[in-house]
Amino acid sequence: MLSSLVVTCVSYHHFEQTPSPYTRHLGVSTSPAAFARHLAYFKRHYSPISLDQLIAGDLPPNPLLLTIDDAYRSVLDIAAPLLSEHRIPALLTTNPGVIAGGFAPIDNVLSLAMEELGATGLGLAVGLTEPWSGSIRRVVREILPTLDLCRRAGLKERLLRLLGVEESHLVERMDLFLNPDQLARLVTEHGFTVGNHTVSHTTFRGLPRSQAQSEILGGKRQLEQMTGQNIRSFSFPYGNRLDATPDALEILRASGHEAIFLVQRRTNAVRPSPDIWYRQSMADDTELQLDMKLTWYPRMGELKAALN
Ligand SMILES: [Zn+2]
Repeated sequence: MLSSLVVTCVSYHHFEQTPSPYTRHLGVSTSPAAFARHLAYFKRHYSPISLDQLIAGDLPPNPLLLTIDDAYRSVLDIAAPLLSEHRIPALLTTNPGVIAGGFAPIDNVLSLAMEELGATGLGLAVGLTEPWSGSIRRVVREILPTLDLCRRAGLKERLLRLLGVEESHLVERMDLFLNPDQLARLVTEHGFTVGNHTVSHTTFRGLPRSQAQSEILGGKRQLEQMTGQNIRSFSFPYGNRLDATPDALEILRASGHEAIFLVQRRTNAVRPSPDIWYRQSMADDTELQLDMKLTWYPRMGELKAALN
């Protein structure tokens, strides 16, 4: 690989061998073996960097920032020991509303609803009357972004009623998420940097400014209390640039978020502003897929954008 100072950012979510009903339809899982192979690949082809290095612009050749989104406990159980072993720094951007306990992210409720109600039942529950492919991706891309926090909570309540389960019981049954002590261990035992991913894992397009503010400022404040770190970064849930609204960006910058992450097939050679970074979303990729995902797709995405 030719030497370059363009930063590559990768994003993971959850680590498990076999996806459960709560994650199966979300495409968020990486197997422990695949993750170990990815880390060896990163060590061979890149220089892993920390968030502080990214913000300071203190970059070695072929810099790579490894980030993990959401609040899965598998980050502590599976990813952290492997990262420590390879001495690769990691940024966990997370949701304190989930870590505080008793709160089920709507994504996991949707996955369970797909499992138990089927595509037709879930389609009816979320208001899709015409035939649909039965991919949760469509709900996440087309329906969730139109909802404000109240309507989003209403949809989750409706799904939980259809599933016949109370939210606190479901959280217990899933047994998937970090608690505050485990988050603290990621920082103290494994040297993780923590970033903001909103309180409740929400999109921004459908939110009034007051709700955007409470999700961003509340997320930062609660994470600072939980970790003792100064929270300097933010990643938009689902990573869509349409959620980087002028309101959201203004609130983020005014509250000291110095690095803001999206997920898009673009290189970081050309960015909308110096504090915005594109990440590539990772799953169970083979080495060939890593080459495509990290080297070729982002360049093709950039070319496509330039031609449009
Ligand atoms: Zn997320």
